[in-house]
Amino acid sequence: MTKIGFIGLGNMGGPMAANLAKAGHDVTATDLSIGAIDRAEEAGCTRGDSVAHAVSDADVVVTMLPAGAHVRSVYTEEYGVIANAKDGALFIDSSTIDVDSARAVSNAAKDKNFAMVDAPVSGGVAAATAGTLTFMVGGEATSFERAQPILDAMGKNIFHAGDAGNGQVAKIANYILLGITMIATCEAFNLAEKLGLDAQTFFDISSTASGQSWSMTSYCPAPGPVETAPSNRDYQPGFAAAMMLKDMRLAQEAAHKAKAATPLGAQSEALYALMEAAGKDDLDFSGVMKLISGKI
Ligand code: NAD
Repeated sequence: MTKIGFIGLGNMGGPMAANLAKAGHDVTATDLSIGAIDRAEEAGCTRGDSVAHAVSDADVVVTMLPAGAHVRSVYTEEYGVIANAKDGALFIDSSTIDVDSARAVSNAAKDKNFAMVDAPVSGGVAAATAGTLTFMVGGEATSFERAQPILDAMGKNIFHAGDAGNGQVAKIANYILLGITMIATCEAFNLAEKLGLDAQTFFDISSTASGQSWSMTSYCPAPGPVETAPSNRDYQPGFAAAMMLKDMRLAQEAAHKAKAATPLGAQSEALYALMEAAGKDDLDFSGVMKLISGKI
């Protein structure tokens, strides 16, 4: 049993904190939302009145916050994690944030002799609830080893991606690939249909041929072939286009800084931004099919 301070009890953090409590850890949980703290208490956590209160006695601090600005402030401000944590505590930030913020906060922690890993996740609310998330972890090997038993209670696949920030790098590199292959899959199904080839027949052929990808076989954006895909429930998420756009923007921001050419990533970001502009970014990201087929 480990004493854990958990900050950020939203769609993802709520069930993650609940799973830590279920695994027998002593979790003090806090959020800006009283309702979220109430739900965490019902799930077996202790109420945390503030960030300082949640972390002051914790051996491990876990954060699950919206974006880089929140992570920077929760860790580095006067009433934040670094100023109030117990000596020797380990910090795990599972938020999806920009690489620069991840590395800056990790350095700030290191300056005060705290170990920290960035550990963003793949998998949505369902995986957070089931405790089957994939964690991509950046940080020193010894910190990764310390984090592993905690992450085990919330996830199924846990990868060490290298130094601080590399968890975020793995996450955005995977998502740029996913975003692009989803759009490519939409284009192919739309083209096939326009030329008179039905979705099921094209799926049967392409899913066993060289065009096969996860976007096609597990999450087909054309209704019909994959029963569980959001395309069969009018693109209700799943993984919302707004979340994909957030990850695409992080990927492009990082690519610009690294001077990495990502021409298809840039195009994909622009297409998901059009879904946002049309007010349709609450659809699943495979709903980009509607845009490609002229139905938005
Ligand atoms: P969310 O908006 O539901 O939850 C964020 C929580 O952080 C909120 O409850 C908010 O009140 C709290 N918060 C913000 N500032 C705070 C502060 N200063 N102190 C205490 N609490 C604070 O977001 P989410 O869907 O849970 O996502 C969290 C992170 O996980 C994001 O970075 C997101 O990109 C990533 N992610 C989400 C999903 C998903 O499917 N939702 C999947 C993978 C990764």
